[in-house]
Amino acid sequence: MPKGESYSKVKNLVNQHKLHTICTSGNCPNIGECWNRGTATFMILGDICTRDCKFCGVTTGKPLPVNEDEPQRVAKSIQLMQLKHVVITSVDRDDLPDLGAGVWVETIRAVKQLNRGTKLEVLIPDFQGKKELIIQVANARPEVISHNLETVERLTPTIRSAAKYRRSLDVIATIAETGAVAKSGIMLGLGETETEVLQAMDDLLEVGCKVLTIGQYLAPSKEHLPVAEYIHPEQFEKYRTIGLEKGFSFVESSPLVRSSYRAEQHAEA
Ligand code: SF4
Ligand code: SF4
Repeated sequence: MPKGESYSKVKNLVNQHKLHTICTSGNCPNIGECWNRGTATFMILGDICTRDCKFCGVTTGKPLPVNEDEPQRVAKSIQLMQLKHVVITSVDRDDLPDLGAGVWVETIRAVKQLNRGTKLEVLIPDFQGKKELIIQVANARPEVISHNLETVERLTPTIRSAAKYRRSLDVIATIAETGAVAKSGIMLGLGETETEVLQAMDDLLEVGCKVLTIGQYLAPSKEHLPVAEYIHPEQFEKYRTIGLEKGFSFVESSPLVRSSYRAEQHAEA
């Protein structure tokens, strides 16, 4: 059960102002730990995604029109929650002419303006590989930019919808070129082999990725892709050690690790 003084304070604010975080809507098991450390994750551009990844619990469909107030609302929520570190992510908006990049930029600017001391990490979609859109978001200067590889190359077509392994690597290469800390994450337990995981690490390092998160995949429902394997914590620890030896600045690797877990450390990478 989550507890602690900061956790209770943040929880009361979230309830009182009806704030929306992934931490609560995703029933994240790390909520007590993260909120006590002053970290939370928000999702922008609505909660309906144009893609249909087999592992993801987000609703797929035709998204609602963009809410003009969203950047200010997120910025205000962060101020009310007095967060020291914030992660923002979004659904994929393949329906929008700029794929949502404009809202991303406005949100980053609004958050920074209202929360001077707060460190910001953005977990971005692939923007269909459009380099100019990634650069547009990077120019708003979040401290960390993350894009998840999600799984090894062989399994990518089975579990990700529309996204491609090599394209995601190109996205991470562009992030690294902008000078932001480049971060990525993969899930284990989808049927990948150790050799494939190590290859994914090498591929990420080659494009300039500095921070890697590795966590156990858990199926959001019976309709989603079933878990192929529960990976032993010792294997997670082995990947953490190997990842650090290979050259990542940070590797978070254990069953409950999610992209935004312990994110406050990664701005230092
Ligand atoms: Fe929120 Fe991410 Fe922490 Fe989960 S791991 S509680 S989603 S910040
Ligand atoms: Fe979920 Fe992202 Fe895939 Fe959309 S693109 S279904 S939010 S993982």
